[in-house]
Amino acid sequence: MEIHYVCTGSCHGIATEEQWKGGAKTCGAKSCELFGKPLAKRMFCSKCKKHFNPGEKHSC
Ligand SMILES: [Zn+2]
Ligand SMILES: [Zn+2]
Repeated sequence: MEIHYVCTGSCHGIATEEQWKGGAKTCGAKSCELFGKPLAKRMFCSKCKKHFNPGEKHSC
């Protein structure tokens, strides 16, 4: 299970945990209504390629 940081706005941007630690902590898409806003933490299942909320039960 991986941690991703996602923009919940229209750009649907995703930063991996490494990218986030490297400074990609806010939305970087100027055309997005959430530009400059912090990304939201999500868990990422590499099996089914889906995001879900931290703490949420996931099975695939
Ligand atoms: Zn965005
Ligand atoms: Zn899954």
